Amino acid sequence: MTHSSDDSLVASLAAPQVLRAARLPAWCSAHAVGLVDVWLAAGRIERITAHDASVPAQANAWHLQGAPMLPALVEPHAHLDKAYTVHRSPPLGPGLLAAIEAGHGDERHWSAADLRSRAERALHDSLAAGVRLLRTHVSWFQPEAPLAWAVYRELRAEWLGRVDLECVNISPLGLFEEAALAERIAAAVAATPGGVLGGFVHTTNHSEAALRHLMAAAARHGLRVDLHADEELAPHAHGVASTARLAGEFGLAGRVACSHACALAVQDEHTALTTLDAVARAGVSLISLPSTNLLLQDATIGRTPRLRGITLVHEALARGIAVAFGSDNVQDAFNPVGRHDPVAALELAVMAAHVRPAFDAGSALVCNVDALGAGERITSLVGMPADLVVFPGSHESAQAWPSDARERVVLRAGRKVAGMWPPASGAAW
Ligand SMILES: [Zn+2]
Repeated sequence: MTHSSDDSLVASLAAPQVLRAARLPAWCSAHAVGLVDVWLAAGRIERITAHDASVPAQANAWHLQGAPMLPALVEPHAHLDKAYTVHRSPPLGPGLLAAIEAGHGDERHWSAADLRSRAERALHDSLAAGVRLLRTHVSWFQPEAPLAWAVYRELRAEWLGRVDLECVNISPLGLFEEAALAERIAAAVAATPGGVLGGFVHTTNHSEAALRHLMAAAARHGLRVDLHADEELAPHAHGVASTARLAGEFGLAGRVACSHACALAVQDEHTALTTLDAVARAGVSLISLPSTNLLLQDATIGRTPRLRGITLVHEALARGIAVAFGSDNVQDAFNPVGRHDPVAALELAVMAAHVRPAFDAGSALVCNVDALGAGERITSLVGMPADLVVFPGSHESAQAWPSDARERVVLRAGRKVAGMWPPASGAAW
C-alpha cells in the first residue's frame, strides 16, 4: 500500500514519529542539558537523543522549537462532586468546617445529570491540561454508595484511555466504627474498577478502632487507601502517625496515601520528623494540597493567616517518601477559584513550599503515579507509552517555565488527543 504525501502529512499531524527540539526535565531525561529529539514507535518512546539540528526536516516530525514537554500529568486529588458549585453554595464562614457544612448543603442539587455535567467539565479541562490519571474523592456519608459513585463509574468507562478516573470514598471515620460496616463499604469499593478506600481522619472524630477496621478491610480486599489525614493545625493530631503504624501492621506498603498532613507543620521538630520516619518505613505516601491548605488553615475573619499548613515536603522527599501535589477543590465552598491543572498546583507549591528547581525536579511531583500506589516512580521515559504534554509558546529561554499562552498539545500512545498541531500562528509560535 502506498500513501500520498497528503496522507503522510495528515498522519504526522496526528501521530508524529519524532518530536524534535523538545525540552524535558532532568528527572526523566539522561540529557539533562539542552534539547532532545524523542523518537516514537508503536505508541511508545523508543529512544531519546540529543537534539541534532543538522537533520533535515521530515514530514513525520514535529519541531517543538525548544518547548517544554512533560510526561502525562497526574491529578492525585480532586473533588468532582463538589466542583463548580460555589455560586450556589458559598460557605457562610472561614475555614474547613464551614466549607464542609456548605458542601453538605449543596448535596440537594446532586442529581445524576448535575453530577455528570460538572464531572465532565472537570475531565475535559483535565485532558486539555495533559492529565492522564485523575483521582477524585467522593462524599460517602451513608452505608450505601452515593449516587455520584455510580455516575463516576459510568464516566470512568467512557473516559478510559483519555483520563483514567479513580474514585475514593471520603467518609467520616465513624462509618468504620463497626467492623461489619467497614467490611461492607470496602467490599463495595473493591467491586468498583479503580476504587480506592478512603476516610476523613481528624482530631474531632479520631477513633483507633475505626481506623484499624478501615485498614484491615483494605488489606483483606487488596485495596489502596487514601485518607484525608490531619487536615488541621492541632499539634496533637496523630492521624498520619496512626496510619503509618497500621499500614506497617497490615502490610500495606506502597498502597496508602495520606492527603493534606497539615498538622506536621505545627508539631515540634522531633515529633514531626519521627512521624515522617515512620511514614517512610511503612511505605506511605503524602499528597500535598497547597491551595486548600493556604485557604482553609488558620482562617479567621479580619485576620491575616500566620500558619499555612503546608506539609513537610522537603523532609518527606529526603526520606524517600513518594510525594505528589494536587489541585483539591475547584470553585466550590472550599475554594472559590482554581482549576483542574496540576501545573497550577505545582506553581502554587513552588511558592508555598519552595520546591526547586521547579521544572527539572518539581515537575516529577505532578507526573509520577507512585504516590497513588499506581505504578513505579518514573526515572526514564524510554520504553514508556508516548503519553506526553507539550507546552508551545514557552521556547524563548532554556529556563522558561511552561506557558499557558498557547493551548497545550496532549499525546496518548503517540497520538494527539487534545490541542492543536501546529499551533495556530504557525512558524511564529
Ligand atoms: Zn480533599
